[in-house]
Amino acid sequence: MAYDFDLFVIGAGSGGVRAARFSAGFGAKVAVAESRYLGGTCVNVGCVPKKLFVYGAHFHEDFQTSQGFGWAPGTPSFNWPTLIANKNREIERLNGIYRSLLGNSGVTVIDGHARILDPHTVEVAGTRYSCERILIATGGWPSIPEIPGREYAISSNEAFFLEQLPKRVIVVGGGYIAVEFAGIFHGLGAQTTQLYRGDLFLRGFDDGVRKHLAGELTKKGLDLRFNTDIARIDKDGEVLTATLKSGEVLEADCILYATGRRPMLDNLGLENTGVRLDDKGFIAVDDYYQTTEPSIIALGDVIGRVQLTPVALAEGTAVARRLFKPEQYRPVDYAHIPTAVFSQPSIGTVGMTEAQAREAGHSVRIFESTFRPMKLTLTDIPERVYMKLVVDSSSDKVLGCHMVGPEAGEIIQGLGIALKAGATKTMFDDTIGVHPTSAEEFVTMRTAVGE
Ligand code: FAD
Ligand code: NDP
Repeated sequence: MAYDFDLFVIGAGSGGVRAARFSAGFGAKVAVAESRYLGGTCVNVGCVPKKLFVYGAHFHEDFQTSQGFGWAPGTPSFNWPTLIANKNREIERLNGIYRSLLGNSGVTVIDGHARILDPHTVEVAGTRYSCERILIATGGWPSIPEIPGREYAISSNEAFFLEQLPKRVIVVGGGYIAVEFAGIFHGLGAQTTQLYRGDLFLRGFDDGVRKHLAGELTKKGLDLRFNTDIARIDKDGEVLTATLKSGEVLEADCILYATGRRPMLDNLGLENTGVRLDDKGFIAVDDYYQTTEPSIIALGDVIGRVQLTPVALAEGTAVARRLFKPEQYRPVDYAHIPTAVFSQPSIGTVGMTEAQAREAGHSVRIFESTFRPMKLTLTDIPERVYMKLVVDSSSDKVLGCHMVGPEAGEIIQGLGIALKAGATKTMFDDTIGVHPTSAEEFVTMRTAVGE
C-alpha cells in the first residue's frame, strides 16, 4: 500500500526535528506535526530561555566582581520586561530557523495537534494522513502535586512569561529546574526560598557536589530549606501564603513548582494502538525505540530515560539511521553522558558518583579539591570551586568527574570525551594543564583523600 508518508513524526522538539530531518535527508518522505512551538521544550520553555535567564541573573555578581578590578559600575538596575522581550525575540528567531531547517530538508511541517487514529493513520486539524511508521516525540509536561491551592502555583512554563519579576519567590523541588530557577530569581534580586522534601537536594548527583552547592547557595543568601514541603497554598489579594507541613506559614508573590515532568500523551490517541506504557507512565520501548505497536516508535522525554536535549538528539539520529540508513546505525551510548546544572555556581558532571561506583562493586580512590577561583581573588565574594574525581583502584580508570564552579558545563564536556575514551588517572596526571584556569585542577589532583 502506498502511504502519504514513510514516517510521520509527532512533535517538533529536539528529538522529533532531528529524526525528521535526518530521515528526509536519507530519502524518506517525512511529515512532522507540531501543536505549540517549533523546537519544542528546549528552544521555547527549556534550555535556551533558561540559559539566557541564567546569564541575566549572573550579572548581579559580575557587577560586584568588577569593583575589585577597579570598575565603579554605579547602582545597576534591572528591567525584567526588557529581558523577557529580548528573550522572546530570540526564541521567535529560533522558531523561524527550525521552520526553514525542516523545510530545506524536505520535511512537510503540519501545524496542529496530532492524534493517532490507528497504527498507520494520524489526524491533524481534521485531515487524515496515512503513514508507514509513526514516531512519537511529544516530550514532557510539568507535573505539580495535587495539593489544595495548586492552581495558585506556576510551573517553569509560566515562569518564562511572568509580566513582572516577583519580589518574593518560593521554589518547590530539588531537581535541575528547581535549583536553576531558584538561582535565577535570587540572582535577579527576588527574595528566594527553595523548599525540598528530602535531606539534601539534587538526588542522584555526587554527595560532594550536593553538599558543596548547598553551602555556596546558603552563603549567597538563598533561603534553602530541606525536609520541607508545602501542605496548602492560599491566596489573599495578590499575596500567596504557603502553609508548610510543619505548620509554618510563608508569604510569597510567586510559588514555582519544579517537581518533575510527566510524558505528554494528552489526546494522542494511544488507546487506538497497542502502545504500552511502563510502570512510571512513560512509553515503553525496546533498545531500538520500538514500542509494543510494530509501526510506532518513540523517543526523547516521552520514553522517560534521560530527559536531556542531546540525548533526544542522539536518539533521533539513531532512529533515522536504523530506519533509512542502516549501514550507518550505531546505538546510543547512555554511559558517560556529561550534564550540567546551570545553578550559580554551576555543576558539571560525567560518569559515576562515588556512591554509584561503590554500589557497583568498584574499590575507589577519591580525589577532591576546593579552591577560590582566580577571578574572585580581588573581591570579597567567598565562592569556592569544588572538584572531585572517582577512580577505580584496580584499573586506574577515572569513573567520574564532578565539579561545582564557574563554567562547569564548559569544562566537563571535554572530560566526557576522556571518560568515553577510557582515560586513566595516570593519563589525567600526564596531561599538561592549561594555566591559569580552574580546569587545570582536574589534571593536578595528586593525593587521594579517600579510598
Ligand atoms: P520536546 O522538546 O518537549 O518536544 C515535544 C514537542 O511535541 C513539543 O513541541 C510539543 O508541543 C509537541 N507535541 C506534544 N504533543 C503533541 C501532539 N499530540 N501533536 C503535535 N505536537 C505535539 N536539557 C538539556 O539538555 N539542557 C538544559 O539546559 C535543559 N534545560 C531545561 C530547562 C527546562 C525548564 C526544561 C523544562 C527542560 C530542560 N531540558 C534541558 C530538557 C530538554 O528540554 C528536554 O529533554 C528536551 O526538550 C526533550 O526533547 P523531546 O524531543 O523529547 O521533547
Ligand atoms: P527532576 O526529576 O530533576 O526533579 C524533581 C524534583 O522534585 C526532585 O527533587 C523531587 O524530589 C521533587 N519532587 C517530585 N515530586 C514531588 C512532590 N510530589 N512533592 C515535592 N517534591 C517533589 O525534575 P525537574 O522538573 O527538575 O526537571 C525535569 C528534567 O528535565 C530533569 O530531570 C532533567 O533531565 C531535565 N532538565 C535538564 C536541565 C539541564 O540539563 N541543565 C535543566 C532542567 C531540566 P525527590 O528527589 O525526592 O524525588
